[in-house]
Amino acid sequence: MNELVINLHMHTTYSDGSGTHAELGRAALKTGVDVLLVTDHNILVQGVDAYYRDGKKRALLLACEEIHDQDRDPQKNHLLAFGITQDFANLADDPQALISAIRKAGGLSFLAHPVDLDMPAFGETDISWEDWTVTGFTGLELWNGFSELKTVARGKLDAIFYAFWPKYIPHGPLPKTLQIWDNLLSTGQRVVAVGGSDAHAKHMSMGFLHRTIFPYEYHFSAINTHTLTPGPLTGNLLEDRKMVFEALAAGHCFIGNDLPAPTRGFRFTAQGRESGIMGDAIEGGATLQAKFPSSAQIKLIKDGKCIKSIHADTLLHVTDGPGVYRVEAYKQYLGKQRGWIFSNPIYVS
Ligand SMILES: [Zn+2]
Ligand SMILES: [Zn+2]
Repeated sequence: MNELVINLHMHTTYSDGSGTHAELGRAALKTGVDVLLVTDHNILVQGVDAYYRDGKKRALLLACEEIHDQDRDPQKNHLLAFGITQDFANLADDPQALISAIRKAGGLSFLAHPVDLDMPAFGETDISWEDWTVTGFTGLELWNGFSELKTVARGKLDAIFYAFWPKYIPHGPLPKTLQIWDNLLSTGQRVVAVGGSDAHAKHMSMGFLHRTIFPYEYHFSAINTHTLTPGPLTGNLLEDRKMVFEALAAGHCFIGNDLPAPTRGFRFTAQGRESGIMGDAIEGGATLQAKFPSSAQIKLIKDGKCIKSIHADTLLHVTDGPGVYRVEAYKQYLGKQRGWIFSNPIYVS
């Protein structure tokens, strides 16, 4: 299968980001990202879907949308909508109606930053997902590069440190978000996990300090969602768009943080009477195999519990019964053990 690196969830000048679509496209080419899913707040920008090219390199930009009710206080329940061709912001005040309408239109919906703390030093309120009665969504944003900042930078001094050295921010998905994901999976539903950057590339001025904080290139080199597709991008926009969204909808993807080491090449497969990859359901027993581009501390998780933890570049496991199996990997980076790769599950029945 072919691997496409997707950076998803970012903002442009159409909402509260500082960059244009063309600047995002150039940043993707510079950092080797294949696909950008741009999600401005409450607007589906038309006419910007395009390929950006540099020699043989190609990056595909697709406009999507991040929707939330702007009249709600605090403004919780942000939803990422992918694969849509019409604006759904008019349904923002009813998350279930919104999710159902996106699904009916053939789109995908992901609960954005399900846990997103306040940041009183900057007047930011808690914008976690709150409406847990909703059903029918594709998945959730397990790791969000920007909401993680709020958990490490609680004051202005911390924020200045991380503005200059953003590579110190990523530690892994928030434990509470991982717990929410495992709980949802335990109910028997398929829930696809993606990693988003929530990039804004905002300009910061504090006295003599002027800086673009967390530029797009930084985000594109950090947390990405890698999809496995039947082939590479073809150059046909409609075909490529369909291929990317089908892979995401099926959960044929993993989250990779490229700061500690490159994550391209990771694979998690099952071989039994049937074979499958992340996102697939397998009947009967299977041998699970996780292969990593380099050695790491690997955890095999079954139904939310760690059943194996080894330091290696390959993990093999013969299933001993039905369960939802997924893999996490950690690497030592900048003095700490940090999250590196998080797979989507293989569902063994
Ligand atoms: Zn948001
Ligand atoms: Zn956002």
